[in-house]
Amino acid sequence: MTARPEADVAVVGAGPAGSVTALHLARRGWRVVVVDRARFPRTKACGECVNPGAVARLEALGLGAHALGIDPVPLRGWELASPGAPAHPAPFPRGVGVGWGVERAVLDHALVQAARDAGVEVREGVRVHGVDVAGPGFPTLTTTDGPLRARLVVGADGLRSRVARVVARVAPGSALPRVSQTVRVRGVDLPGDRGRLVLDREATVGVAPVAAGRWNLTRVVPAGPDAAVARTPDQLVAAAAKAVPELAPAVADGPLRASGPFHWRVSDPVARGVVLVGDAAGYFDPLTGQGIQRAVASAQAAADTVHRALREAPVPHRRHLAPYERRLQRSQRPGRRLQGWIDSLLDHPRILEAALGRLARAGTLSDVVAVTGDAHPLRSLLSLRHLRLRSLPSGWPS
Ligand SMILES: Cc1cc2nc3c(=O)[nH]c(=O)nc-3n(C[C@H](O)[C@H](O)[C@H](O)COP(=O)(O)OP(=O)(O)OC[C@H]3O[C@@H](n4cnc5c(N)ncnc54)[C@H](O)[C@@H]3O)c2cc1C
Repeated sequence: MTARPEADVAVVGAGPAGSVTALHLARRGWRVVVVDRARFPRTKACGECVNPGAVARLEALGLGAHALGIDPVPLRGWELASPGAPAHPAPFPRGVGVGWGVERAVLDHALVQAARDAGVEVREGVRVHGVDVAGPGFPTLTTTDGPLRARLVVGADGLRSRVARVVARVAPGSALPRVSQTVRVRGVDLPGDRGRLVLDREATVGVAPVAAGRWNLTRVVPAGPDAAVARTPDQLVAAAAKAVPELAPAVADGPLRASGPFHWRVSDPVARGVVLVGDAAGYFDPLTGQGIQRAVASAQAAADTVHRALREAPVPHRRHLAPYERRLQRSQRPGRRLQGWIDSLLDHPRILEAALGRLARAGTLSDVVAVTGDAHPLRSLLSLRHLRLRSLPSGWPS
C-alpha cells in the first residue's frame, strides 16, 4: 500500500448524513475531510420538517437547537386530509416530543459548523467527479480541487449519488415517479404549531411553518411530460390553495424549487473502502417526510461500523462493513412498508377518507403520526387497539 493517505475518511456531501457521519468519526479521533460542491448556507428542496425521531437523535448527539444555535418552530403534530375533505387533527402523542420546522439552509449550515467544531475539515465548493475504489490501493476521489485519498469513502452525496452509481447497483424504485415543487409563503391562515398534509395521488400538498410567519409549501405531482407543474411561485400557491383553502390569502416569498423524480433503490450500500449513507443509500418518496431522520440514523449506524472497521484493516473490506448494511436494511424495511400502505391508499381516496376519519374519531391518528414521525415503531400500529379498526374501513391495506 502506498504512503499514508490525506485522511482516514473522505466524506462526499455535507448534508445531514455527511455532516453527522463526519462529526461522529471525528469525535472518535479519526481524521475526516468532507467535500461538498455547494457553499453553505445552501438551500435544498425539502418540506423542511425535522420529525420528532430526528430531533431526539440530534439531541442525543448534543445537537439540540440551543447547541446548534438555531431557533426552529416547534411542530406539535399534523393535520391530515384527503382531497376535498376537512382536515383531521393529529397531534403528536404525549411523550413523543416535538418536531422542528426549520429552513434547510439554516439547519444544514449549523450541522456543518458542528462537524467543523468536532475537528472535521470541510472543503466547500469542491465537486467530486470520479471515485476510484478498484485495485489494491487506497480509495481515491477525483475532485475539482485535485485528488483526495483516504482509507474509506463515505458517499453522502444525496439523491442520484455519484458515489453510489460507481460502487452499487441502483434502479428507479417507483411505479409512479413523482416530482415536487416548493416555495416559501407568508400569510397562511393556519395554526403556527403544526403542518397540514393533503394526501392526493394527483397532487399531494404539504404546508408547514419554518420561521415566524414563514411557511414551506411543497406540492408533489406525478412526473412526466404532462406533469401538472406550476410555472411561477404564484401559480404554485394558487394550485395548492385548491387543496388547502387556508393558502388563499398567502403570498409567495421566494423562488420556486423543483426536484425529482426521487424514488431510487440502492442494492449495495457498502463496498470495499466505501459506505453509502442518507439518500445516497436509497430513497423513497418524500410523502412521509422522514428523510432527515433516516440520514441521521444511517450516519450513526455507519459511523459505529466504520470506527470498528478502521481498526481492523487499512482499507476496510465489505465483510468489515457488513454490520452497517444489515442495520440499514433492517431500519429501511418498516418505512418502505408504510410507504407502500400510503401509496395504495392514494389510489382509493374514499377509503383514505374513511380510514382517516375512523382513526381520528378513535383517537389513534396521533399514533400514526408518531410512527411517521419515527417516534414509535411501525409494529405499534399492530396493537389490539389498532387491529380492531382494520375491519372498519374495508380495504385498509394489510
Ligand atoms: C420535495 C422533498 C421534500 C422533502 N421533505 C422532507 C421533510 O419535510 N422532512 C424530512 O425529514 N425529509 C424530507 N425530504 C427528504 C430529505 O430532504 C432528504 O432525505 C435529506 O436531505 C437527505 O440528506 P442527505 O445528507 O442524505 O442528502 P442531501 O441533504 O441532499 O445532501 C447531499 C449533499 O451532497 C452534495 N453533493 C452532491 N453531489 C456532490 C458531488 N458530486 N460532489 C460534492 N458534493 C456533492 C450536495 O451539494 C449536498 O449538500 C424531502 C425531500 C424532497 C425531495
